[in-house]
Amino acid sequence: MESLKRTKIKALLQMEPGVEVLAKGWVRTKRGNKQVKFIALNDGSTINNIQIVANTELFDEELLKRVTTGASLAVKGDLVESVGGGQHVEIQAKEIEVLGECDPMRFPLQKKDTTLEFLRSVAHMRLRTNTFGAVLRIRNAMAFAIHKFFNEKGFVYLHTPLITESDAEGAGDMFQVTTMDLKNIPLDKKGNVDFSKDFFGKKTSLTVSGQLEGELGATAVGEIYTFGPTFRAENSNTPRHLAEFWMIEPEMAFYDINDNMALAEEFVKYLVQYALDNCMDDLKFLNDKYDDGLIERMRSVLGIAFQKVTYTEAVEILEKAIADGVKFEYPVHWGTDFQSEHERYLVEKHFQKPVILIDFPKDIKAFYMKQNPDGRTVRGMDVLFPKIGEIIGGSEREADLEKLEQRIDELGMSRKNLEWYIDTRRYGSVPHSGFGLGFERLLLFVTGMANIRDVIPFPRTPKNAEF
Ligand code: ATP
Ligand code: MN
Repeated sequence: MESLKRTKIKALLQMEPGVEVLAKGWVRTKRGNKQVKFIALNDGSTINNIQIVANTELFDEELLKRVTTGASLAVKGDLVESVGGGQHVEIQAKEIEVLGECDPMRFPLQKKDTTLEFLRSVAHMRLRTNTFGAVLRIRNAMAFAIHKFFNEKGFVYLHTPLITESDAEGAGDMFQVTTMDLKNIPLDKKGNVDFSKDFFGKKTSLTVSGQLEGELGATAVGEIYTFGPTFRAENSNTPRHLAEFWMIEPEMAFYDINDNMALAEEFVKYLVQYALDNCMDDLKFLNDKYDDGLIERMRSVLGIAFQKVTYTEAVEILEKAIADGVKFEYPVHWGTDFQSEHERYLVEKHFQKPVILIDFPKDIKAFYMKQNPDGRTVRGMDVLFPKIGEIIGGSEREADLEKLEQRIDELGMSRKNLEWYIDTRRYGSVPHSGFGLGFERLLLFVTGMANIRDVIPFPRTPKNAEF
């Protein structure tokens, strides 16, 4: 059997009949009668299975008994035209080898209809399902498309540190990194933890954003992007938050807020288009199984311009909605941060298209955002998407040294720890902008999954870090 080279199922399904082939994969289902067995084999290269037709006269009964759902097989046979509907070719088996048996009494993915909730409880095995195969392939396609997009524009992929001493704006609560013996923590004379004894000689954490380091890169080579793991110890069990997620953070010298918004819109449209062009089999599967509006919703964001709205205008719209009887769980007034329910109202009900919110009250945004002349708002931008709410957060950065320092002081932050960052404004400061796209938020949009735990292979959330 091994003299023949294995062909992946995705390729097999596109080949013309009349050749001998070797396929390998896992059994999805087996059915049939006394004369013939039909085995659906999948190797992960596509959502589609190849049908193996096994004439029972050719094979030992004992061997066919070992062909159960989940078992792995190597099958040699002739690729023939399929008589049954559904596929154009199938394999008329000549040799079958069971590579690994799968005990039907114990295999957790036996039942045909397994809920996503159940699958989370067997997360080490759920990758074997059609659903997670589809999600993983789309995830992979999106990661590739992100690199392709920026590469074609001449952006430099910058690797910012995962272990950091900076708390990046206080974007989120941080996970501390230490090698100290927690049962015997070194203290200084005042009784405080003596971080000079720790591995790095100072207090360090896992990064909540690569932006500040990204600005060092952008003000050196012009346009950069980061794409890496990001950690936030947010104790919020929502369907949109993970403790470990992936973020894409482009940062561009010489871009103002309008250039920034244009790039963000072009970027997400490119990714959605790429998924439609390259992942249709998987999208159709997810559309049929979980979210019959998925493909339509994806197409709907492509043809139109995103709606730009100032925060102040958005507050007026929401206040009017409330006056007209719309009920929200959280209150709205000028100065509060919007909740996802407000974001979704603006996108799904009011404008019925993606929204870019701009000009936020400075007190709900980070210190580095460019201050508007009105003295109360800053040049931030959030891109809001249907079903999700915020998918991108970004801003034009404050390029003026004095204003930046003043804001740091106003917020009672320590300038000392930020000197390295402030240096970008001391030496050849330029207008610049950037944003962060949450990779899993994008994946929610292009898979139709409702829970962020179902678009990352190994989710980390409060009280959950398996494997
Ligand atoms: P949110 O208000 O939704 O919690 P944020 O304003 O804290 O998000 P930013 O600091 O602006 O988020 O981060 C940029 C992007 O990273 C967000 O627009 C979102 O797509 C994503 N993101 C932020 N926090 C998380 C998280 N805990 N899990 C997954 N993605 C996240
Ligand atoms: Mn944000």
